[in-house]
Amino acid sequence: MSFYTPDTVDCNGETFKLFISKEQIEQRINEIGQQINADYADKMPIFIGVLNGSFIFLADLMRHVSIPCEVDFFKLSSYGDEKVSSGKVTKLKDLDAQIEGRHVIIVEDIVDTGLSMSYILKQIKASSPASVKVVTLLHKPGAGKYDVKLDYVAFEIPTLFVLGYGLDYAQEGRNLAQIYVLESKSDDSKL
Ligand code: 5GP
Repeated sequence: MSFYTPDTVDCNGETFKLFISKEQIEQRINEIGQQINADYADKMPIFIGVLNGSFIFLADLMRHVSIPCEVDFFKLSSYGDEKVSSGKVTKLKDLDAQIEGRHVIIVEDIVDTGLSMSYILKQIKASSPASVKVVTLLHKPGAGKYDVKLDYVAFEIPTLFVLGYGLDYAQEGRNLAQIYVLESKSDDSKL
């Protein structure tokens, strides 16, 4: 299979450069998958993917999980076409599954201010699950405004706008197989 892995990419008039490679992503997902296998043996967890951004991460993560598990989806409004948060969250799709008494693992693409995650946690906890943990592909600790506990974090990154591996810019770029960062002349940030 050939994945879409350019070194730089133009998306909606902006140039993005490679930030986190496919190999780095695979390694961390493998590690987190093994941790979940150990932490949730005999618990039949239900993964809740937060649409749209988490769909690739969730699909790859679940294929490293070897214990019995289920999946469902929750959809929130996104940034729209902007690179900064609108500061508002709207629920576009609720869960179909009953999660009362279940062990829930919320799967998010990125936690930026924490607003979306604090909203999701409130919604999920209202259904009385047995436990709730959060796994996120990316976390921007510098942007945190809401106090949310993140249980599994694949990568902590600076407060920069990233694209690819499920994350979009005005709905484009989700199909990139690696993570890219907006190119800026004064920015030499690296992981
Ligand atoms: P928060 O509510 O934590 O501020 O933002 C979470 C949501 O904002 C993510 O699920 C994602 O949709 C979007 N987001 C935050 N930072 C980025 C980013 O750097 N790139 C992209 N494409 N989306 C982001």
